[in-house]
Amino acid sequence: MPEQICPECGGVLFYDSPAKRYVCRGCGLYVTKDELETIKDKLHREVDEQRKRRQQQSEYLEWWLSAKK
Ligand SMILES: [Zn+2]
Repeated sequence: MPEQICPECGGVLFYDSPAKRYVCRGCGLYVTKDELETIKDKLHREVDEQRKRRQQQSEYLEWWLSAKK
């Protein structure tokens, strides 16, 4: 069983095998494997969107700075 990292707080998740759930001792997250994947997917998408937005902003800034000359 590979170690899983808590998507909420970055702590180590422990696998509670009788309950088939991951438990985080840091923030109390208690999720099934599927729920964990869903949370991770969602976080990845948010990070991607933030990156895209930041890139658009810097492209705009570059355009603005070059147009100002
Ligand atoms: Zn946590």
